Amino acid sequence: MSTPTRWTSTHAGSTAAEHHHGALLATALEYAARGWHVFPLIPGSKRPATPRHAATDCDGSDPWCRGGHTGWEQRATTDPDRITRAWTTAPYGVGIACGPSGLLVIDTDTPKPGATAAASGEETLASLVAAHDGAASLPETWTVATPSGGVHRYYTTEHLTTTLGNTAGRLGALIDTRGTGGYVVAPPTTTPAGRYDGTADAEAAPLPAWLVQQLTPRPAAPSSPRELRPVTHRSAYLRAVLTKEAAHVSEATEGGRNHALFAAACCLGELIAGGSLTDSDATATLLDACAGHIANGAFTEAEAWATVRSGFRRGASKPRTAA
Ligand SMILES: [Zn+2]
Repeated sequence: MSTPTRWTSTHAGSTAAEHHHGALLATALEYAARGWHVFPLIPGSKRPATPRHAATDCDGSDPWCRGGHTGWEQRATTDPDRITRAWTTAPYGVGIACGPSGLLVIDTDTPKPGATAAASGEETLASLVAAHDGAASLPETWTVATPSGGVHRYYTTEHLTTTLGNTAGRLGALIDTRGTGGYVVAPPTTTPAGRYDGTADAEAAPLPAWLVQQLTPRPAAPSSPRELRPVTHRSAYLRAVLTKEAAHVSEATEGGRNHALFAAACCLGELIAGGSLTDSDATATLLDACAGHIANGAFTEAEAWATVRSGFRRGASKPRTAA
């Protein structure tokens, strides 16, 4: 075994390659801090570095596969120690596993050279947005330019109860989406084609409802999504906490709404950190409780969502379990 190569970003004589290596690790850690699950890509490539075998060739000799084949999606992590260990050994590209990260990425591409008069994915997407949303553009969100001239827009799906997988061309020609079972190559990964670059340094916004509808695998069930949420596994105590916090939010009056939402998110964030509640259930409860305020224009869904995330982060510092 050779000694892993170490990089030092502050080293006076550091080369551009060492600097890039440091940026890859630092950025992977930033994504993890956002709750995005990252995994290493073979340097200079878009393919996962591990596992090095396909599920069909799995012989169980990889330590990760002792209990059955474990693919890149399950290996993707937000654990800073694991990320630091992996990226210290090689200048891996950064993959983000969309499903575990609660992300749905809209991936537009440009027509292949030589294609005649075909619209780009961006043009097709703009027409779709105008037709479905009456808006000039999609909500501002975390956006990446790919080396091939494509665009990746990251949207969050944590507020949804449905699981969205990958699609190819369902929204339109040269528009793919990556969800559960999919990943994106993220900045500052570099391939022979060029570098992936962030173009909008914004928080990832919730996936707009009309896109959720377009991307949901089956026609929507007749009942409303909130009725489908599993509640039977919750203890009476947990149900009481959720009801009380939701009431604090929905009954808050002008001037106190944002504070009520933040306080409720802190409380539920403690229970998420303690493992008593899932992030998606807590988010759904709080956004439902905000529905009246959002309808009144007191805040937008994106603002409510940002307050919820911020409360969860605060709550995470005080993990608590519900008996
Ligand atoms: Zn395996």
